[in-house]
Amino acid sequence: APAAAPEPVRRAAGDRPIPPVLGADLAVPVRGGRLVPYANLDYAASAPCLEPVSAAVAAALPAYSSVHRGAGYASQLTTARYEQARHTVRAFVGARPGDAVVFTRNTTDAVNLLARALPEGTTVVVFDSEHHASLLPWAGAVRLAPPAFPGEAVRAVDEALTGIEGPKLLVVTAASNVTGELWPIAALAHVAHRHGARILVDAAQLVPHRRLNLTALDLDYVVFSGHKLYAPFGTGALVGRPDWLAEAEPYLKGGGAVRSVGGGGVGDGGDGGGVGGVEWHDDPEARHEAGTPNVLGAVALAAACDALSATGWTALVREEERLLGRLRAGLAAVEGVHELSLWGPDHPRVGIVSFVVEGLTAREVAEALSDEYGIGVRDGKFCAHPFVRHLLGGVKDGGCEDTTVSALRASIGIGTTDEHVDRLVRALEEIVSRRG
Ligand code: PLP
Repeated sequence: APAAAPEPVRRAAGDRPIPPVLGADLAVPVRGGRLVPYANLDYAASAPCLEPVSAAVAAALPAYSSVHRGAGYASQLTTARYEQARHTVRAFVGARPGDAVVFTRNTTDAVNLLARALPEGTTVVVFDSEHHASLLPWAGAVRLAPPAFPGEAVRAVDEALTGIEGPKLLVVTAASNVTGELWPIAALAHVAHRHGARILVDAAQLVPHRRLNLTALDLDYVVFSGHKLYAPFGTGALVGRPDWLAEAEPYLKGGGAVRSVGGGGVGDGGDGGGVGGVEWHDDPEARHEAGTPNVLGAVALAAACDALSATGWTALVREEERLLGRLRAGLAAVEGVHELSLWGPDHPRVGIVSFVVEGLTAREVAEALSDEYGIGVRDGKFCAHPFVRHLLGGVKDGGCEDTTVSALRASIGIGTTDEHVDRLVRALEEIVSRRG
């Protein structure tokens, strides 16, 4: 039996202070060469790394080796660490005992994996308001317009799934990467299941901000990325029902995904395991994780999950709501700044606010914020072109490069301070007043 990885210290949720992020003291040059503390308001793109995450990676670095196949002590330790990370991710999203946890590179990779694993003839239903990662991997999906209110989303899905035979999948975000608005995923899961459909929830923007319980919400699949969850780049996960995954062609073909390969070539691609045949693993995790996995990424992702769970969500959500309230009130007070929302200003959201500034392109404002004030925000269409176009009033634009049909996005998380928020608001006031 492999050596046990050092057990992460388990503490009751909520008994630890919010952990610090790395780079909180980063200073950046502004016009004139002065250095100012960086105000990172771009957490929705990638969040900085938590200190306990960096510590967990540092602890795993001195003794790592190949996973699953090596007999040496370092291999056993690495395998145990990798599988422990899988357990941690499973617990973090409240998965059912039999659910698969497949490590991927990120959310995009996880959605594409499921797209390749759909049974023949599956009908996919997706809203146009999705991030491209959840919108694009489906050939011939039924695309629904962004709904005018949450109940309309449920009604639209009900209608779209009515009378459809065969396997069906609803794909929906839990929290919008453009407006931060929370989607009614429990109600959507309910209506999907009433039609015999499954639901895939894109939780990339939810899990850094709220507890997710796949079992309680009765979701079939969730996907998310480590780099938005305070771990470094390169890891994500697809968590959910194992059956479609266990039957699908392996996402990648190679070592680790096979149980046995017969002699005389693998050209027939068969699964009989005889001479010339390949017998793929029917364990969905092994089957879809061919090649040497990103063990340190998995360790980092698990450490982030552990750190957030140990802190408890009450403290995290309370602090985020306080900062978000301050940010939105500040933006609302700046003349000519308009927040984007699908369901109105009172609909609950995570710490993401997109907005436009009258008379200025998003690019001009974003550049001024960076170059003059040391503030990092995102500008553009946030990999959600149809949605941003919809929110901006259906304007026809010249594609990605068209800066006149773009918005700004400020997003917050652990490490955001009152000073960051106030600096953004003050800077916008100055930029707007200069506009004349
Ligand atoms: N889904 C949502 C809602 C996102 O916000 C993002 C990233 O911005 C993605 C999917 C894609 O994530 P990744 O680039 O990590 O694959």
